[in-house]
Amino acid sequence: MSDHAKPAHQPLTFRRYKDGDAKPLSWQQEIFDADHTHKCPTYIQSTPPCQGSCPAGEDIRGYLNIVRGIEKPPAGVPWQEYAWRRLTEANPLPSVMGRVCPAPCESGCNRNQVEDFVGINSVEHFLGEWAIEKQLAFVKPATRSGKTVAVIGGGPAGLSAAYQLALRGHDVTIFDERAELGGMMRYGIPGFRTPRQVLDAEIGRILDLGVTARMNTRIGRDITLDQIKADFDAVFLGLGAQSGRALPVPGAEAPNCVTATAFLKAFNDGRMAHVGKRVVVIGGGDTSIDVATVARRLGHIDQLHESDRPENAMAAGTGFAAHDAAVLSRRQGAEVTLTSIFAVEKMQASKHEVEHALSEGITIRGGLAPLAVLVGADGRATGLRLIRCEARIAGGKLDVKHIAGTEEDIEADLIVSAIGQAVDFSGLEQLDNGRGAITTDKNYQVQGQAGMFCGGDVIRPHLLTTAIGHGAIAADGIDKHLRGLAQDKRPKVDVHSFDLMRKMVEKGLKITAITEPIHGTDKSTGAVHNFDNRSDRYVIPHKSLFLGHFNYTERNKRQVVSLTADEALNNFEERLIPLLEAKAQAEAKRCMSCGQCFECDNCVVYCPQTAVFKVPKAKATTGRYVDTDYNKCVGCHICADVCPTGYIQMGLGE
Ligand SMILES: Cc1cc2nc3c(=O)[nH]c(=O)nc-3n(C[C@H](O)[C@H](O)[C@H](O)COP(=O)(O)OP(=O)(O)OC[C@H]3O[C@@H](n4cnc5c(N)ncnc54)[C@H](O)[C@@H]3O)c2cc1C
Ligand code: SF4
Ligand code: SF4
Repeated sequence: MSDHAKPAHQPLTFRRYKDGDAKPLSWQQEIFDADHTHKCPTYIQSTPPCQGSCPAGEDIRGYLNIVRGIEKPPAGVPWQEYAWRRLTEANPLPSVMGRVCPAPCESGCNRNQVEDFVGINSVEHFLGEWAIEKQLAFVKPATRSGKTVAVIGGGPAGLSAAYQLALRGHDVTIFDERAELGGMMRYGIPGFRTPRQVLDAEIGRILDLGVTARMNTRIGRDITLDQIKADFDAVFLGLGAQSGRALPVPGAEAPNCVTATAFLKAFNDGRMAHVGKRVVVIGGGDTSIDVATVARRLGHIDQLHESDRPENAMAAGTGFAAHDAAVLSRRQGAEVTLTSIFAVEKMQASKHEVEHALSEGITIRGGLAPLAVLVGADGRATGLRLIRCEARIAGGKLDVKHIAGTEEDIEADLIVSAIGQAVDFSGLEQLDNGRGAITTDKNYQVQGQAGMFCGGDVIRPHLLTTAIGHGAIAADGIDKHLRGLAQDKRPKVDVHSFDLMRKMVEKGLKITAITEPIHGTDKSTGAVHNFDNRSDRYVIPHKSLFLGHFNYTERNKRQVVSLTADEALNNFEERLIPLLEAKAQAEAKRCMSCGQCFECDNCVVYCPQTAVFKVPKAKATTGRYVDTDYNKCVGCHICADVCPTGYIQMGLGE
């Protein structure tokens, strides 16, 4: 998530050319003859780095341009709905992602070079909320293919694949061993980060496309994979990484030494209502923060009975009842300590989540490696022995150096290991590549298994957005497989992007000569003169933008509720408040529309030859706003210099 306070940069005084700037340019650019060239403006659509860094491949610039009013919806469609539909072409779970995606798109955003990134995640959040409030539905396909696909696992990867396949008219059945869909969004991440009514709304919309869900069904136990392969035309495996990794130290088999996935599942199932008085969590990533903040909220109870022990709540089906609601009134705060082998500032968890945890009274200690679980006479853990250490990643490998003589013990009633997850291949051992994952090609087709695809944590535990992206790419491959087509080479920049032809059709513009090459012609009505869409191979860097066009504008931040240690106890309320509509629009206006015209008129105003002109309104659309009279153009390149978005590049036009 993205609302961590970032120090604002000083306003920039941007200059494209500096005094005495006489360095020769590359030969492609060095063809000036006095004050003119034989180059003319060409219109180059490229991918902005935000989109290039979003693993789900959302058309971010596209929906921001709709929110800010540059791209107009067709008559009768509210801009909010139009923007949401553009967003959900890639990602059907925007309200969830707007809350918990760590937003790699924002780290990549070119606006960081002006003062601060665009709050993409918060606009995504706003649109997701708007669509839930208005009960928007996805549009069902007009025709059905008659083909069937089994999706194993109803986490974000499986849901994304199911959604994309259902949109293409295929009959999809999701199988999941849990009682409800959502995977780690429901059984890992706590409800104060992914509220269950939001999950239900966004998942319900996917099911409404006609997707069937068969819950409480584990493939490999209740149904064999061979049976699935025989019953369906194609298979998608979105198994996730369900097993937690136990601490690799002596004593870790003590009953009150558990894994983070078991802990969070028991909490999210409603089976665990309190933890021990002293809880130690070992990790440093987001999962460990989730465990620590949940433990802090649950607190402990005095006068504990055997059946009330937290580890009993985690052992589902052992005969112990769920924690009794009556004990909640006796709940008191738990002392929670989180340890990491890395220094606190180097921990993988998002910085703002670390800050939340600290303000909620959780002790976080970096540079400590566990040595042994201390076990009492009854076999239960009484504490954890740790040693100070220096940890670093060298050549992709973790290197931990213990500092001799620095051992110490921390007392604990419950120890939770949050040091990573593994895929549970039981009953599906044939899929394990020997390294605990499934090996695929670029289309996410399982190696040597035509018609069987996979995605998400089963390839490598990562993020929700990554799982959603994998699901969508795999769905493309499955669709091709079902149509008997060969698998394509995926584009270099594999994301959704603005489609000029579709926009022109939507506007009702007649497109002639669509079969002609779009690049390099001024005859076709199917394109702006000298237009080229390089979105599939070119990400536009900030150096290609005219940053001087943009004023220093502070980011519109969402309100984040910070809790004190006392306030956190028993508080399961959401902490992130969505932007109001006006603020979401103001935030979208900060987007610089990198790589696409946003109708600023600079080129029209500054062209000394009046060669650049606006396309007449009846023929204009987004991406078809300006044009050049090449008989007037002298190639002075002023239009390219003043284009804020890098959309105009000088080329050898005809
Ligand atoms: C505690 C925690 C916090 C996290 N926080 C964040 C965060 O803030 N932001 C973020 O982007 N990511 C976060 N992640 C990571 C993110 O949740 C995962 O990357 C993502 O859920 C992976 O999606 P998936 O669909 O591959 O797997 P999962 O979400 O794990 O879903 C897999 C599904 O498959 C089902 N399944 C497995 N095997 C079978 C079988 N044999 N038969 C039938 N069903 C089966 C499971 O029941 C499950 O429902 C977090 C993860 C955890 C554990
Ligand atoms: S899914 Fe994540 S990376 Fe993609 S646009 Fe949303 S916040 Fe950014
Ligand atoms: S300024 Fe807009 S288009 Fe450019 S990288 Fe940022 S969000 Fe994307």
